[in-house]
Amino acid sequence: MSRIAFVNGTYQVQRRAAVGIEDRGYQLADGIYEVAPVMDGRIIDFAAHLDRMAYSLRELRIQPPMPRSALEFVCRETLARNRVRDGVVYIQATRGEAPRDHGFPKVPVKPAVVVSAKHLSWPSNAEDKGIEVITTPDIRWGRCDIKSIGLLPNALAKQKAREAGAFEAWFVRGDGTVSEGASTNAWIVDGEGRLITRPLGPEILPGITRATVLAMARAAGFQVIERPFSVEELLGAREAFLTSTTSLVRSVVAVDQRPIGNRYPGSVGRTLRQLCIDHYRGRVDA
Ligand code: PMP
Repeated sequence: MSRIAFVNGTYQVQRRAAVGIEDRGYQLADGIYEVAPVMDGRIIDFAAHLDRMAYSLRELRIQPPMPRSALEFVCRETLARNRVRDGVVYIQATRGEAPRDHGFPKVPVKPAVVVSAKHLSWPSNAEDKGIEVITTPDIRWGRCDIKSIGLLPNALAKQKAREAGAFEAWFVRGDGTVSEGASTNAWIVDGEGRLITRPLGPEILPGITRATVLAMARAAGFQVIERPFSVEELLGAREAFLTSTTSLVRSVVAVDQRPIGNRYPGSVGRTLRQLCIDHYRGRVDA
């Protein structure tokens, strides 16, 4: 079955769909995106994803490509046309197509929008062998809170991780603290069992999974402290884990080949992973 994408107002066979070569997303990374999980045909935390998308657009002064209710409809329709009941829906919006010029188009243009859907099999239980991460200098810009399509440092970091046999790269800032991963938020559990993750701010993407896990962890009685943590603290942590829409919660068992804890997924990570799976399955409210 051919994949179908919604491209600037029409549903098209994805491999034949095209955008103009002067689309500002293509030329200047002048655009934003969203990825929301879909389970049993439901889009999980959809409102939070649309809110974050609205924030990203607002911060870049890009007009919403369509009203929110229309976008909701298009996302559901794209999932249906691709028969995706488990997977992700991807939304991308750019400032649109205009003669190449760094400044905004002088004559207003319509923002461009693409919606696509992809099948993924979600885990059915908290089984997780744990993953390894590497650290890499955070060379990104000062507005990582915007979900921009300008992902070159993230792509290079992810590639560096893969070449090192690791799953993810965690960015380290000049002050020695971990900001986040190339496509994940970063957490540790200290010796007292407290969860530590960086507070929201321009250095990190406000992960939807981060927010969900934070709320569920607190509701489950864990103490969560939002503060930056250093690489040194990470290496001495009892547990570490990452969160994202597609990874949910995954335990980090080694950093730069040095073990975290006893090199097995810890109980906090496993508990939160199960809560996250239950949330996706609609059994637990976040
Ligand atoms: N940080 C970055 C840099 C990301 O790209 C992502 C995933 N898009 C995340 C964190 C996790 O965000 P979410 O939980 O919304 O997938």
